[in-house]
Amino acid sequence: MKISLDGQVALVTGSSSGIGAASAKALADVGAAVAINYHSNAEPAEQLAEEINAAGGRAIAVGGDVGDEQDVDQMFAKTLEAFGRLDILVANAGLQRDAPSADMSLKDWNQVIQSNLTGQFLCARAAIRQFLEQGVNPELSRAAGKIICMSSVHEVIPWAGHVNYAASKGGVSLMMKTLAQEMAPKRIRINSIAPGAIATAINEEATGNEEGRRQLLKLIPYKRVGDVEDIGNAVVWLASDLSDYVVGATLFVDGGMSLYPGFEDNG
Ligand code: NAD
Repeated sequence: MKISLDGQVALVTGSSSGIGAASAKALADVGAAVAINYHSNAEPAEQLAEEINAAGGRAIAVGGDVGDEQDVDQMFAKTLEAFGRLDILVANAGLQRDAPSADMSLKDWNQVIQSNLTGQFLCARAAIRQFLEQGVNPELSRAAGKIICMSSVHEVIPWAGHVNYAASKGGVSLMMKTLAQEMAPKRIRINSIAPGAIATAINEEATGNEEGRRQLLKLIPYKRVGDVEDIGNAVVWLASDLSDYVVGATLFVDGGMSLYPGFEDNG
């Protein structure tokens, strides 16, 4: 079986690095044109777009803060201007601002909620508007559009010292399910991916050294830290018609992190 997204267009937010970059590459590998959104540093996004174009794909870099309504409008407008349509949104952009709850500033609380939750809503809303306008094109896909929200195992696992992040991902869980329920009759498919520990810039402190990795592996029954490609592969599947009957689901891609690993040896 071969997955092809030929003729389809994807916008991946926060895709100048990490999971977003791997998702953009994976989508381009199976034929989708991709808009690579970055927040402030254009260079890595432009470089990735060049790489994809040089390999025969189609890609552009689009700047913008997902938590800013005008920026979101602009990044969607630029994507449509370049590629003429939109079929897939990967709402991936996110960040952490960690602190013990007693010390957490309102600024850090707001910044994380704004990017991780409000940002996903603003992008999902813009994508839904576009998908409703386009309708289903059966030559491209059985769905009018697909949205993939990048959640986390922390949509279900509480995380001391990260209350803003866990609250944002818990919010993404019910936002995604509510949007999925509302939009399914319009043939818009909305799902989430909940990564476990994937080695990227966001968790360099834990994954970037041997001791950190050793500690992390205690939380992962499958005994390996995830690669960004593990998530890129899941993105491609959820964006394709192979998952056409999957609606409102969270796909945990976590090496079993959400399986209560403390009980591995009888608790
Ligand atoms: P990363 O730091 O490499 O990527 C996050 C990207 O989002 C960055 O490029 C950043 O610039 C961008 N971003 C942040 N705020 C933004 C904003 N307001 N507007 C536009 N872009 C913004 O880290 P990553 O691990 O690749 O994270 C990607 C997503 O995966 C995040 O939503 C994160 O919460 C989620 N996630 C990661 C892991 C992991 O282990 N790495 C686990 C669970 C969930």
